[in-house]
Amino acid sequence: MERAESLGARVTELESRRAELVQRLETLEAERDAALAELEAEAVKVGSGRADIVAGVGEDLAALYEKIRASSSGMAAAEIRQRRCGGCRLELNNVDLDRIRRAAQDEVVRCEECRRIMIRTGESGL
Ligand SMILES: [Zn+2]
Repeated sequence: MERAESLGARVTELESRRAELVQRLETLEAERDAALAELEAEAVKVGSGRADIVAGVGEDLAALYEKIRASSSGMAAAEIRQRRCGGCRLELNNVDLDRIRRAAQDEVVRCEECRRIMIRTGESGL
């Protein structure tokens, strides 16, 4: 009889604990859903400017960028900094540097090594 009472108390205790865990799970699921909704809203907001950017650079360059991005770990363009490609970090040789120097300002120049689009700045060392 005493053992049955003891087991009954244990069942009550476990049922109570189970109810707490169910409540905790519902709270966490609600927090997760709220965080996902926030992320989706942010993705829509961030993506909304893309059409303007594509219109600015042109469909061809945007398509090239996407193609390189898919094959370059998500980084399609990199700054040339102190004569190095910011993508693969290799130092550009004199032939490449000369080619880049002579390229028109609006010409798309690409790294011979990693094929990323290289962005020329005042710190490129050209
Ligand atoms: Zn490179």
